[in-house]
Amino acid sequence: MSEFLELDNVSKIFKVGTLISRISIPAVWKVTFSLPERPVIFSLVGESGSGKSTLANLLLRLIKPTSGEIYLRGKKLEEYSQKEFLRMVQPIFQNPFESFNPLKKVETYIFSTARAFSRDGGRNLEENISRVLASVGISLEQIRGKYPHEFSGGQLQRLAIARALLADPELLVADEPVSMLDVSLRVSILNLFKELRDRFKKKIIYITHDLATAYYVSDLIAVMLRGTIVEMGPAGVVLNHPLHPYTVLLRQSVPDISKESVQTIKVAEEKSKLERKTVSEEYTLSGCKFYLRCPYATQQCLEEPPYFQVENRMVKCWLFQNSQEGGTKHVVEKK
Ligand code: SF4
Repeated sequence: MSEFLELDNVSKIFKVGTLISRISIPAVWKVTFSLPERPVIFSLVGESGSGKSTLANLLLRLIKPTSGEIYLRGKKLEEYSQKEFLRMVQPIFQNPFESFNPLKKVETYIFSTARAFSRDGGRNLEENISRVLASVGISLEQIRGKYPHEFSGGQLQRLAIARALLADPELLVADEPVSMLDVSLRVSILNLFKELRDRFKKKIIYITHDLATAYYVSDLIAVMLRGTIVEMGPAGVVLNHPLHPYTVLLRQSVPDISKESVQTIKVAEEKSKLERKTVSEEYTLSGCKFYLRCPYATQQCLEEPPYFQVENRMVKCWLFQNSQEGGTKHVVEKK
């Protein structure tokens, strides 16, 4: 049986600059991974500029890959109609205030989405809405007649999640869904994700720059650097015992990653310490993207490393070439 979601060598290359000095930036480079059929929270973690939001846009069909394929249950993404696709995959965006028109009542959105995705011709509309709203901890009465500004950021993000759930999707793709919320609200949304996984059997791709929240909520994790996934596997294994030198560097920036430290979040903004020139150089390196900063770099690293399997994780680094046994299929297993 095929996996629920499979990315096969997916790249997205943007052309930047003027006609005279145009360069190609691989915002996403040869990304290959799969998501299993079981309910799971899979985090894509990286600093800003790592390509994770571009990857989210590819997963949501908002942009097309330059090369490679994305399959949903064995079928190419573009082969689904928009409605079929949205019944399987729904987005949750960073800013809940942008998810709703400030001039429209929230219930208008909720009812029109429920109607659009109703599977019974809209017969049990209110009942369905009440059930979905209850799953995010809000009642229909609480939203009656209200506009977006009458809700807190956390409530509005819950409503955005409820709106996504009205399509009864199997997968939620959440791009930085808690980064604009207060600490206490962050935790409540992350706990809601766990509940959606456990009670409602949803799969969630959680995209974040925040190592501690990823640790708190994820089953599986992929660490991104300059468009590539450098390490991927069970979240606890990867974050407690990182192997790739870049993951080690990120991990050192968050010494206390325990579940209680969700409020201290923040991946090292390594990019801010780098000159812009170095950042664009890293993107266009043909070998390992960490070559310019890696203390272990050798001549061999000028060649792009493949993924090496080290027990139940994948590591894209030549240091682990002797750990390789068997093929390089990037199916990550739950811890
Ligand atoms: Fe460092 Fe080479 Fe590994 Fe890249 S491949 S992380 S440069 S040792």
